[in-house]
Amino acid sequence: MAERECGACGQCCKLIGVRELEKAPHVWCRYFRRGKGCEVYAVRPAGCGEFACDWLLDERLGDDWRPDRCGFVLHAGEGGRMVNVELDPAQPNAWRRAPYEAVLRGWAAEGASEGMEVLIWIGRRCLRLLPGGGEVDQGLVRPAMEFAAHDRLRRPGSGRDWPI
Ligand code: SF4
Ligand code: SF4
Repeated sequence: MAERECGACGQCCKLIGVRELEKAPHVWCRYFRRGKGCEVYAVRPAGCGEFACDWLLDERLGDDWRPDRCGFVLHAGEGGRMVNVELDPAQPNAWRRAPYEAVLRGWAAEGASEGMEVLIWIGRRCLRLLPGGGEVDQGLVRPAMEFAAHDRLRRPGSGRDWPI
């Protein structure tokens, strides 16, 4: 089967901060062109080229899970132990729409015995789905993002910076 491509998505080009560009999280990158993609694709920052969301990597996720369609970016953390659901704060409830909420809660329930957690990120705020249903609001877990020139900050599993 052919490898997936981002196509017209670009959702991570809004949600993720890119230090090399001094681009803050949750604002569109100045190089993203709707319907076309990255205008500087051949020379995009290394972190951009290294990042791939879970939809891009896992063909078990159908087309309705493409981030620009579902409204969030899935990315694994801690070697797959964490499922991070990165929402656009402009659509904080996108994960609650069918079929997403039921599937995400199913993952939280089924993965709990193996230590897996499903975390819903709305900017700096984190909700942890409980295996038996419901969720815990963990508050503003991420500190505000600060940018410093030539100071790249990477997190495991992500080539770019999430709003930490
Ligand atoms: S969110 Fe995923 S599919 Fe969309 S542009 Fe980023 S890597 Fe590609
Ligand atoms: S430079 Fe990076 S963040 Fe900006 S549009 Fe290109 S791939 Fe997206």
